[in-house]
Amino acid sequence: MNTFRNMRKKIIVANWKMNLSYAEAMSLTDALVDSADDLGHCSVILAAPFVYLHDLVSRIQSHPDFSIAAQNCYSEEKGAYTGEISASMLASIGVEHVIIGHSERRTIFKEDDLLLAQKINKVLEHGIIPIFCCGEDLSHRKSGQHFAMIENQLSKGLFHIDKKIISECIIAYEPVWAIGTGINASADNVQEMHSFIRQKIKEKYNDNISEQISIIYGGSVSQKNAEEIFTCPDVDGGLVGGSSLKSDEFLSIIQSMNSFFLK
Ligand code: PEP
Repeated sequence: MNTFRNMRKKIIVANWKMNLSYAEAMSLTDALVDSADDLGHCSVILAAPFVYLHDLVSRIQSHPDFSIAAQNCYSEEKGAYTGEISASMLASIGVEHVIIGHSERRTIFKEDDLLLAQKINKVLEHGIIPIFCCGEDLSHRKSGQHFAMIENQLSKGLFHIDKKIISECIIAYEPVWAIGTGINASADNVQEMHSFIRQKIKEKYNDNISEQISIIYGGSVSQKNAEEIFTCPDVDGGLVGGSSLKSDEFLSIIQSMNSFFLK
C-alpha cells in the first residue's frame, strides 16, 4: 500500500444537485448518519440545495465523519446581487465546504475561470474548503487535448493559491462526458488523469503538497464500479451525483472505499 495514499483524507461527496424535497433530504441524511458507525475511514460530505443547508448542519452535528457543502456560492462579499448567496453567509451557518466549478456551473451558467478563481479566494477567506471541479468534454478527450484542458482549468482557477492553503483544498476530476450519463471513465483513464493532476501540483508547489491533496473522481460512480475506481492509487474518493440520492446505493459506495482500505 502506498504510504502517502494512506495519509490522504478519503472523501465521498454526495452531490444532490437540484433534487429531493425537504422531507426526502432530511430522511436520507438520517438514514446515512444512522449508519455512521460503519463509515470507517471515510469523510462524507453532503452537497445540498441552499435552503436545506442550515437544518442539515444541525442534523449532522454529532457525527464528526459528516460535513455539509453548498453546491455553489458567489464571489462577492455582500451587496446588490439579487438571488446570490455569499461565502460568509454559508460560513455563518456552519457550512464547511463549497463545490466550485462544477461542469454544470461552467456550461449552463457560463462560469469562467476568472470567476471561479475569485470564488475560490472568497470561500478560503471565510475558512470554507473548496471542492474544485475540473474535467474535459468529449471533444477534447477525442482530440487528445484532455490533459491540456485540465492543466488550463487548474492553473487559471486554482493554482493562484498560496502553498500554505492549497493542501486543504479538494480536487474533483469529473470528465464532463461521464457526468450523469451512466458511462464512467475507465479505471485506467481515471488513474492516468489523477496522476497527471498530482504531477502538476508537484511542479507548481512541491512533492509533499502533491502527495497530501485529496483528488476524488466524479462521473457515473455507482455501486457497480466504485471499488474498481477507488482501487486506483491516486484516487482518494468520489463525487457522486445520481447514486447519492438513495441511501442503500450511496452507503454501498462508501463501503467500497472502506473495504479497500481495510484489506
Ligand atoms: C456530479 O454530480 O458531479 C456527478 C458526477 O454526477 P453523476 O454521479 O450522476 O454522474
